[in-house]
Amino acid sequence: MAVKVYFIGAGPGDPELLTVRAKNIISRADVIIYADSLVNPEVCSFALEKAEIYRSASLTLEETTEIIVNAVREGKVVARLQSGDPSIYGAIQEQMAVLEEKGIEYEIIPGVSSLFAAAAILKMELTVPELSQTVIITRMEGKTPVPPAEDLKSLARHQSSMAIFLSASMIEKVVSELLAGGYPPETPAVVVYKASWKDEVVLRTTLKKLVEEVKASGIKKQALILVGAFLEAKKKKRRSRLYNRGFEK
Ligand code: SAH
Repeated sequence: MAVKVYFIGAGPGDPELLTVRAKNIISRADVIIYADSLVNPEVCSFALEKAEIYRSASLTLEETTEIIVNAVREGKVVARLQSGDPSIYGAIQEQMAVLEEKGIEYEIIPGVSSLFAAAAILKMELTVPELSQTVIITRMEGKTPVPPAEDLKSLARHQSSMAIFLSASMIEKVVSELLAGGYPPETPAVVVYKASWKDEVVLRTTLKKLVEEVKASGIKKQALILVGAFLEAKKKKRRSRLYNRGFEK
């Protein structure tokens, strides 16, 4: 296996949702660094006994980079495990920039995002014909700023299917922006906490009751907020025209 850094999408939690490629790399890596706040430590059960395993929650970017750079220079294979898919709020941009600057080779292995795990748990299609053909992936502003043109209120105007990451602790703000943006209060809303973990929780409600329900549940993080008419597709029994005779495009 080539000596380089593998940024691996470790999926939403359940180790069975790792890709075969991710599992192969984890089982051969010399050094494994994982984001212990969201990556299930069970995915490290495939690691070699001699593998050095680091939890990154307590490390700064500089410390993580130092571990990675030193390991690669010693000829070691490094697996950097990210939750879900690395391209969504994975903060890999800054890590890749450092590696490029130092001339260190890296590869990205995609993973199952928590968004797709949540849709599977709910048995829902995000893009239901005639309800929504667009999915907005977004977040409330936190330490990381959100560009003004993408504020939740203006995104809400589209009334598409929406997946809001990293925002359960700011639920009041989320709901007031969504309502101000135009989603009707009766719009279905779901919160999925720790999708695919053993202690997963699913809250099904409406925008109107979302704040109350989230507060009562005590959920503050590791949760995805889903909003949109797609969540009631089953009630509406809509059928894709794709399966109708004579459907062309
Ligand atoms: N790259 C990840 C997202 C990382 S940002 C992905 O593709 O899923 C961290 C946020 O992702 C959390 O605040 C939460 O909103 C969401 N998240 C990650 N894992 C989750 C899980 N198992 N269940 C629910 N939400 C999750």
